[in-house]
Amino acid sequence: MLKRNSMRFVAALMAVLASFVAGPNAALDAALQHRDQAPGFYRVKVGDLEVTALFDGTGAFDPHWLNGTKARIDGVGKALHEDPHMLDVADTGFLVNTGKQLILVDAGAGTWWGGGAMGRLAGSLRSAGYTPEEIDIVLVTHLHSDHVGGLTTQDGKRVFPNADVFVAKAESDFWLSPEIAAKAPKDAQPFFQSAQAIAAPYIKAGKWHTFSGSEPIVDGMQLVPLAGHTPGHTGYEFSSKGQEILFWGDIVHALRVQLQHPEVTAIFDIDQTAAAATRQQLLPRLASEDVLIAGPHMNFPALGRLRKEGSGYSWAPMVFTDQWDENR
Ligand SMILES: [Zn+2]
Ligand SMILES: [Zn+2]
Repeated sequence: MLKRNSMRFVAALMAVLASFVAGPNAALDAALQHRDQAPGFYRVKVGDLEVTALFDGTGAFDPHWLNGTKARIDGVGKALHEDPHMLDVADTGFLVNTGKQLILVDAGAGTWWGGGAMGRLAGSLRSAGYTPEEIDIVLVTHLHSDHVGGLTTQDGKRVFPNADVFVAKAESDFWLSPEIAAKAPKDAQPFFQSAQAIAAPYIKAGKWHTFSGSEPIVDGMQLVPLAGHTPGHTGYEFSSKGQEILFWGDIVHALRVQLQHPEVTAIFDIDQTAAAATRQQLLPRLASEDVLIAGPHMNFPALGRLRKEGSGYSWAPMVFTDQWDENR
């Protein structure tokens, strides 16, 4: 704030000085445009939990990354022509403060995905009043670099040095296997390489843990297997005082396509059939149980609920408010 105020003062002073030299128009030129936004975090209360969405960056989902019938994909192309922002996505991680532990769910892309457009999560965390050193646990939905890139720097340092990282065994075994990587198509190679590089310093430090069933990791949190997108893709559902929040990873990438048409998949879904089936099963439950959803690629703050709409669903996003209502 101090910096911004002093910048304003300098700008005002320059405007005054310029007006002496060049006349009144120069004062207009000196109206500094900030070209930034509010710090990238948003807090919400879920029972006794305080959940903070942490902005990592934005991007646009490429329509060629969607898989569906030709008619459906042609329709997306046409809609995109009329509304160029319909496939805009965010990347988001989430902090759960239980009052005892600080738990990060997904860590954003860091420098491993998005060509420099992402990687703001650690800064968003600091803006929200925490340091990376304070994080106790990281739960990762899967090992795609847009969800785990924020864990590790390019030179192999742990961003969260005190955190224990948890991931499904099926997920860890798949992406960290040199044999599977060797047989994978060329397009998929970067995902294996990044997963291995990102995991390495945590494995070395004894901070990389896998789960294979429903073993307890955190009080009040249930593992929700959501296989299809990746072999061990897992959601994390927290409940507190009758309220629930599901961190659903990559169940939906393109919310304006896949909620109305849950059969549309993404080319990144390793098992296309299972990914569609998982989504078809999950969405009705979430809509009927009124579960709060934390979806990393939904538009920021990436929190919302599902509503039944026609043969599909619509997204009811949480919108910014500073009214601290415990029962939102
Ligand atoms: Zn993914
Ligand atoms: Zn993703």
